[in-house]
Amino acid sequence: MKRKTKAIHGRGHDEYSFNRGLASPVSPSSTFTFGSIAEAEAAFEGRSSAYVYSRGRNPNLEEFEEKMALLEEGSYSVSFASGMGAIATLLLALLGKGKSLAAHPVLYGSSHNLIAGILPDYGIRTTLLDLRDEENLIRLKKDGVDVVYLETPCNPTLEILDIARIRECLGPEVKIVVDNTFATPMLQQPLALGADFVVHSCTKYIGGHGDALGGIVIGRDKGFEAELRFGFMCEFGAVMSPFNAWLFNRGLKTLDYRMKGHCSNAMAIARFLEGRKGVRRVYYPGLPSFPGHELAVRQMEDFGGMLAFEVEGSEEQSIQVVERLELFKLAVSLGDVESLVEHPMRMTHRSYSEEERLALGIDKSLIRLSVGLEDPEDLIDDLDRALEVIA
Ligand SMILES: *Cc1c(COP(=O)(O)O)cnc(C)c1O
Repeated sequence: MKRKTKAIHGRGHDEYSFNRGLASPVSPSSTFTFGSIAEAEAAFEGRSSAYVYSRGRNPNLEEFEEKMALLEEGSYSVSFASGMGAIATLLLALLGKGKSLAAHPVLYGSSHNLIAGILPDYGIRTTLLDLRDEENLIRLKKDGVDVVYLETPCNPTLEILDIARIRECLGPEVKIVVDNTFATPMLQQPLALGADFVVHSCTKYIGGHGDALGGIVIGRDKGFEAELRFGFMCEFGAVMSPFNAWLFNRGLKTLDYRMKGHCSNAMAIARFLEGRKGVRRVYYPGLPSFPGHELAVRQMEDFGGMLAFEVEGSEEQSIQVVERLELFKLAVSLGDVESLVEHPMRMTHRSYSEEERLALGIDKSLIRLSVGLEDPEDLIDDLDRALEVIA
């Protein structure tokens, strides 16, 4: 079966349906009952597949997890209360005192804060360095780094990192974790390219409607599932709610079509901005002028719905552009049917020092767009009108 069909039907069995309903029911039960101690013991020892308690396993979470593992070509997945719940739990499960992690420096703001600001306090050595530079990769391998963490496309400058090349340079020992939130499994398959783990903020494209927080880890090695689920997810407790799992499962059914719409709208907007007076630079992997374009063509099936641009003007003018937009709502988050706009330096990337920001090209006039599913002509008109303050 193709991915588009799997996103709708999963494995095709109706184990999760109720009274032959097309949609599965929400199973809000926190606990599940047993007829005898023998039945309970069989569940505790894993000899039966009976549910025990929803912090460990729940039918709605399982239905969603099964589909996500299929779509990402993994062997299992574990869902969490949020993307950060997934990322923090996975990194703490893989690392500990004396272990080391290296990450590409352009990151989601909270991931940056977790890696650069929090993990070192637990005795984990962390470094941020350019993973596009092969000398850095060779040095990491030589130094015996334990985990390498990256996003591609990166937030907010959309840099593209070569997952297969990173795996090749690091060798098989290093665990590679890829945040696939921007691309979704419809556009990019990190596990097939050599990653060990994929993480998502389901809050974004997977849910797609800005109405539920959630996260997920998809793994390749089934042997690690029980440890991640019962040794860490259960004990840290950042578990996804059954209703959110139900919403994400529903979101998956339209993910392929939504991604097609996000990509074609973003491409139209990127082309418009590239030719618009008053715009200095457009960051979109689909533009042939973008430095990561060729790699994106090889690694991704399409270029996604996120883009960023710098205005030719002061920080103040870029803020005016953001505030003049009407269809693009001023908000963090992304991946919703509604178009969103934000100012990375003033909003999502505040945890970066000025020096870091400048080195990474997060300019003071950089504006990030999450392109929604409105008519692209209306979105372009909105941008054109807002840009009148520049030229
Ligand atoms: C939003 C986001 C996260 C964090 O997810 P939450 O669901 O908000 O906790 C992590 N990585 C990326 C790329 C994101 O966009």
